[in-house]
Amino acid sequence: MGQGSSCWGCYQSLIDNHLGLATILPAIEIKYWQAVVDYKLHHLEAYEDKSIVVGFYEGMARTEEDVHLLKLLRQKCQILVSLGSCSCFGSVAGLANISDIEECLTTKFRENKTVSGGKVPLVNLPKIEPVVRPNSDYVDFDVYLPGCPPTSKLIAAAINHLLTGEPLDLPPHTVCHYCAREKKETPISEILRPFTGHADPDRCLLEQGYICVGASTWGICEGQCVNKGTTCRGCFGPPPPIMSDHGAASISMLGTYAPIEPEKLLEQVKDPLGTFYRFDYATSHLGRMRIKREDAKMAKEES
Ligand code: SF4
Ligand code: SF4
Ligand code: SF4
Repeated sequence: MGQGSSCWGCYQSLIDNHLGLATILPAIEIKYWQAVVDYKLHHLEAYEDKSIVVGFYEGMARTEEDVHLLKLLRQKCQILVSLGSCSCFGSVAGLANISDIEECLTTKFRENKTVSGGKVPLVNLPKIEPVVRPNSDYVDFDVYLPGCPPTSKLIAAAINHLLTGEPLDLPPHTVCHYCAREKKETPISEILRPFTGHADPDRCLLEQGYICVGASTWGICEGQCVNKGTTCRGCFGPPPPIMSDHGAASISMLGTYAPIEPEKLLEQVKDPLGTFYRFDYATSHLGRMRIKREDAKMAKEES
């Protein structure tokens, strides 16, 4: 179990299986898990190649250390699972690619009023990669398990599948399929912020003007947010093929629901990148342009 730069929410979701773990844990032998078991990196490095049956990687590879761990897991594991939307698509952390690394450091340390001294820490820290690259640029994965985080039920089902070979049912439906709200196919005349007014609890949130990307998002979470009263932000990414551009699909979906002039629409959607590319900016076509720009800059510096 490897952890790159992440919030640990995906592994927390695994642990949230509580007593469900009682059937899983006796069937496995944990060979490495930074925050849980006292193995060090050199233990992982010493294992024979492909001697670990299954590895999970949570998070994205923002530091040199993350990249090393990711490549090492690929080398040591027969099956490598990309766990969570950070690992699959870059997720929220991938939005850092909107800025360059110096701008990120300034926001986080130099001009952050809650950090005393305003200095960028430099001691005993791994080197930060200049840009968030999708993990799949570094290694091939055998399984992608998206979600921010993937649900506890889904992780348990995936592990059970890997242990027993029992079929894993992952229907390709979008979140709308699981949403109990009524859709009347009425166009939107105005985009509302999430805090505006009181949404009708029985009607489609998108048709009421709240941006819900359930129609472009894989519904293997079974629509847990929309059925509890809030919009779908798209954390499971697109339905299969899951590496298609979820952000672009979400914008196109909104276009079919909201016959509003593009300029007006842009005025009303306050944070387009954070709204439509919250989870997959790093893997999107738009995000790829940013990565290519960084590559060109590095190539120029090296020449
Ligand atoms: S996918 Fe979400 S829950 Fe998982 S590590 Fe990333 S931010 Fe945390
Ligand atoms: S767009 Fe959102 S609120 Fe509307 S039906 Fe789909 S999931 Fe439900
Ligand atoms: S409803 Fe949308 S935001 Fe909520 S868990 Fe499912 S995919 Fe993620």
